[in-house]
Amino acid sequence: MSLAKPLEGKVGIVTGVANKRSIAFGIAKAWHEAGAKLIFNYQGDRLKDSVIKLVRENFGEDTPICDLDVGCDESISNFFNFVQQHTNRVDMLLHAIAFAPKMPGTLDGHFSDIPREAFNTSLQISAYSLIALARGVAPLMTEGGSITALSYYASKKVVPNYNLMAISKAALETSSMYLAHDFGGREKPIRVNCISAGPVQTLAARGVGGFSTMFKIYEERCPIGRSCSLAELGATATFLASDGAASITGQVLYVDGGYEIMGM
Ligand code: NAP
Repeated sequence: MSLAKPLEGKVGIVTGVANKRSIAFGIAKAWHEAGAKLIFNYQGDRLKDSVIKLVRENFGEDTPICDLDVGCDESISNFFNFVQQHTNRVDMLLHAIAFAPKMPGTLDGHFSDIPREAFNTSLQISAYSLIALARGVAPLMTEGGSITALSYYASKKVVPNYNLMAISKAALETSSMYLAHDFGGREKPIRVNCISAGPVQTLAARGVGGFSTMFKIYEERCPIGRSCSLAELGATATFLASDGAASITGQVLYVDGGYEIMGM
């Protein structure tokens, strides 16, 4: 492993690039600069053309990219068939996917209004998807591997409006712990960790009620006076995927300007 290119020779799957502001895009850039070869997804036809263009412009014209809707088992299975047409080994997977339907109580208003249907959808897309993708990628992680998912502090403490996504993040973090245990005993272990990112201006984040005031609150209260950048999230994800993190699994790593330690 070279220090300049700690992921040289590794192959990674990146999910969740919607545009250049996506956290997944920042992490993909860092993984690419660290020497990894990457395989991407887009979800359905809505952003297909723009995501393919973004990926090919930034990571090379021949970068593999395929449809993947984590809400559909057939789509997951098709995606891993596609992956196997391009590589017989995967070393890391990024889970940067979240969704909650805009319904009463889901991303603003009263938590107690959350409808059952919205709860089920959000948990499936935002948390169960980690289990499904981990199960799909595990047979390809023949040399061991690293799975990283994106979480948020609202899984642990009340952040008004984050409501349903907070429950999904709690399920995501707990799933990553159990996956870390499940896959840790292999001869070549697969490590599973979460990065808990501070607020970042992205498409998904704009759906959360009052999101822009969160930046002001972070600036006022974080020990380092701000949230985090895409480049910093990329650097942390590169470390987690590298051999330097070989003994780190089942953890939630806060990349949030230190907000998590504050009591007031
Ligand atoms: P983003 O750019 O909007 O990315 C969210 C991604 O999830 C999009 O690419 C979206 O695809 C994808 N997605 C939604 N439903 C899907 C499905 N059924 N199948 C496959 N993909 C699906 O927003 P982001 O903020 O970077 O989010 C990435 C992750 O970081 C999420 O887990 C989020 O909760 C987490 N996070 C974000 C922040 C923040 O402040 N931004 C903080 C902490 C954690 P489409 O757009 O095509 O639907």
